[in-house]
Amino acid sequence: MSQQFLIRGGSIVDSTRDETRADVLVRDGLVVEVGPNLDSAGAQVLDASGCVVAPGLVDIQVHFREPGREDSETIETGSRAAALGGFTAVVCMPNTNPPLDDAAVVQSVLSRGRQVGLCDVRVAGCITKSRAGRELAPLGELYDIGVRIFTDDGDCVADANLMRRAFEYSSALHGAVIAQHAEDPDLVAGGHMHEGEWSAKLGIPGRPSEAEIVIVARDIALARRTNGRYHVLHLSTAGAADLVRIAKAEGLRVTAECTPQHMTLTDAACEGYDPVFKMNPPLRSEIDRDGVRRALIDGTIDAIATDHAPHAPETKEVPFEEAPPGMLGVETAFAVAHTELVATNILTMRQLVARMSFQPAAIAGFGNEHGRPVAPGERANLVVIDPLATWTVDASKVASKSRNTPWAGRELTGRVRHTLLNGVPTVINQETTK
Ligand SMILES: [Zn+2]
Repeated sequence: MSQQFLIRGGSIVDSTRDETRADVLVRDGLVVEVGPNLDSAGAQVLDASGCVVAPGLVDIQVHFREPGREDSETIETGSRAAALGGFTAVVCMPNTNPPLDDAAVVQSVLSRGRQVGLCDVRVAGCITKSRAGRELAPLGELYDIGVRIFTDDGDCVADANLMRRAFEYSSALHGAVIAQHAEDPDLVAGGHMHEGEWSAKLGIPGRPSEAEIVIVARDIALARRTNGRYHVLHLSTAGAADLVRIAKAEGLRVTAECTPQHMTLTDAACEGYDPVFKMNPPLRSEIDRDGVRRALIDGTIDAIATDHAPHAPETKEVPFEEAPPGMLGVETAFAVAHTELVATNILTMRQLVARMSFQPAAIAGFGNEHGRPVAPGERANLVVIDPLATWTVDASKVASKSRNTPWAGRELTGRVRHTLLNGVPTVINQETTK
């Protein structure tokens, strides 16, 4: 039996058009018709009046903690949170236990993602075996089963020669990208927050901006040398943003992402020693925050990615210096970015959709299935967003298994109403369908 859905009364925003009023008819996984006043006969109607209809959001950096830390998050709870946040595809980072450095583990995560069926769960593979930074992981083997992003995220690949070889090897793999958690391990050793005025005031050892800047500078030089493709994960400093801007002007194959928190919050948030504001790279100074924001606005930063990093409550209910780094992100990312950038007329809705859908989809190599125009024949991975809806983040009500959201109590503008994955709703009226 064919399944039909009619998304009625919304305005389409995608890579080819902006705020075009049209209904969207979805059948058997595909968009089949787009136009005004479509006939709803035989279709379930999804109300989109007052809403934007866009390609589903794509998050190229999440931690769903499975395998290894299912007490913090699972592929199921993470997928649920992602669907509620409007995401139709995510890329799980490989710092699981065991790490995603061989085909069997990768396959098990992919098949669990398909089984849950709330989001297209893809993975990044390790650059080095066991993320130990000593020898290359089997990049070719991982590439052959669909991996396109390689990273040791959580840790930086510090060895420049190994990084060079990763670029050389991956440049022969079409569409593969080397993604770096850019923090020089020696410079950040023992540090728990951004090194600056606030770390001095609070007496917490710091992680300087230079830790990111020196790695990004080095990696860009290696990418130039090897014609490698390079992506900066969770870029957090004005200095690294400047380096990426110059590299792009030079025509190098360099991209970058930032998180909602790095373009919004600063190290001042750590004032109350609340570990919810601890992450790596850390929340930084106003100068860095403003630099990241500028780079996101001018297109130097291609994508917003959440670095969704759940931690079970008991692991975060410890002194700041003992807490693990990381914050939740997928359920709130769109609303935070929308509140900060679109509701304030800094970016248009289309520019935000670019940074949260089609640009990250292109970086991750799944631009054939996600981030596509809302047009007949395209796979129906879609999100319906009410830009005027206001809501307050309630940490006790998140779908994630963990509660470590830095946005608790925040009023946000813009909310995901429906999400469709492969033509089937995963979220209707802000609730998951299974
Ligand atoms: Zn990272």
